[in-house]
Amino acid sequence: MPRHLRVKMILPALTEATSPFWRPIKYSLFPPLGLATLAGYLDDADEVSIHDEHVERLALDDHPDLVVIQTYITSARRAYALADHYRARGAYVCLGGLHTTSLPDEASRHADSVFIGPGEDTWPAFLADFHAGRPRPRYVSTTRTLEDLPPIRRDLIKRRLYLVPNSIVVSRGCPHTCDFCYKEAFFKGGKSFYTRRVDQALAEIAGLPGRHLYFLDDHLFGNPRFALALFNDMRGMGRIWQAAGTVQSVLAPGLIEQAAACGLRSLFVGFETLSQNNLVAQHKMQNLRYDYAAAIRKLHDLGVMVNASFVFGMDEDDPDVFDRTVAWAVEQGIETATFHILTPYPGTALYARMVAQGRVLHSNWDLYDTRHAVFQPARMTPQALEAGYWRAYRQFYRWRNIFAGASVKTGLASRLRHVAYAGGWKKLEPLWDIIIRARQVTRMLPMLERILAGPAQTTPTGARTENAGLPDSADYVRTTAQK
Ligand code: SF4
Repeated sequence: MPRHLRVKMILPALTEATSPFWRPIKYSLFPPLGLATLAGYLDDADEVSIHDEHVERLALDDHPDLVVIQTYITSARRAYALADHYRARGAYVCLGGLHTTSLPDEASRHADSVFIGPGEDTWPAFLADFHAGRPRPRYVSTTRTLEDLPPIRRDLIKRRLYLVPNSIVVSRGCPHTCDFCYKEAFFKGGKSFYTRRVDQALAEIAGLPGRHLYFLDDHLFGNPRFALALFNDMRGMGRIWQAAGTVQSVLAPGLIEQAAACGLRSLFVGFETLSQNNLVAQHKMQNLRYDYAAAIRKLHDLGVMVNASFVFGMDEDDPDVFDRTVAWAVEQGIETATFHILTPYPGTALYARMVAQGRVLHSNWDLYDTRHAVFQPARMTPQALEAGYWRAYRQFYRWRNIFAGASVKTGLASRLRHVAYAGGWKKLEPLWDIIIRARQVTRMLPMLERILAGPAQTTPTGARTENAGLPDSADYVRTTAQK
């Protein structure tokens, strides 16, 4: 066992990196924060590097002692190939992440150790075992806490390769339990929602350069007491930020107002479906009987843009659901929308139900990317589901509909902001590609902040807020691939 380790940490490319669905900008948004967090537990003398295959070419001719690979379902094939490669070169290989947690036996065939669930307890336990020369093949998380984490090794992140280098996580999991969500599968056997201490979260925020932040928490507002304390102390920090939350948290009195007052400018909201029956069937009770339109109006009144998530293919969805949903979203003036095809991820309640009903069509994980129908829908064919999904994207992001959505806003500045935000995210793909190839993407951050800065808003408490934002698309890095 070498005294000091050469450790290589890898985020393998999602399979779609080699497919027509690849959008470089979508995967040049956030650095691999989870790996940087694990790197914090390593010894200062260890030689550690973090590699994100979405933004850089991976050299494979090296000889690390320890290789750590984070897996998602659509990167599993690539993750296993890398794992096999490095094991053949004599490295000790660890696999963790959502897909490893869902299917640890599958992952075990390619790894020396697999990690089930979050790593705050298992990763340091593994390192102690590894240094003692007796690592175990499987580590299962049971003790969950975000208190007193070692500092995240942000120094290992190649910031210039990302549009949003300041991603941050101050909680893990979510207090809700939606059937299609990875959350229950990932956190089973322990707490499934917990937060950092407010002072520690603030210290991390204070240490991040620049102005913009992106909270990658599944549900930043899941513990209102924590959220309010955080927002209260963030006032005066001059930050602008984005996050994800629920309809319920938007409509809760006072919560989103405080968030806006300390810099919230864009929120990813999981509306998922306009059907109450679908919500019940998926156990998404926190959306039930809430007024979606009122939530959107409230966000817009506070100067907060909306990235709305919708899932197609639930059992109440008929072939008209796509046009209906797009028309509704445009009418509400939603700035950006993220559409998904319902996908039964292994380990979820939805997957168990679909298997029991004999509706899962195959286990080609490459196609479990929320763009393909991998199950038999109740009221349409899989082909109609896929065609409708693509049609929804095309329709929503037609210039005509972008302008129609913008026209809902009050005032020219708000309308221009809407057009710049939606158009910049979806209509300038070739430009983004050139910028990314030139490795200049991070230079776009100030410009985007300015473009998206809207008119100052007045909160109900009288506080003025400053506006800015960025395109949202955090979906692939969340524990939910379908928020
Ligand atoms: S889909 Fe969103 S609200 Fe539902 S359990 Fe997952 S993270 Fe929570």
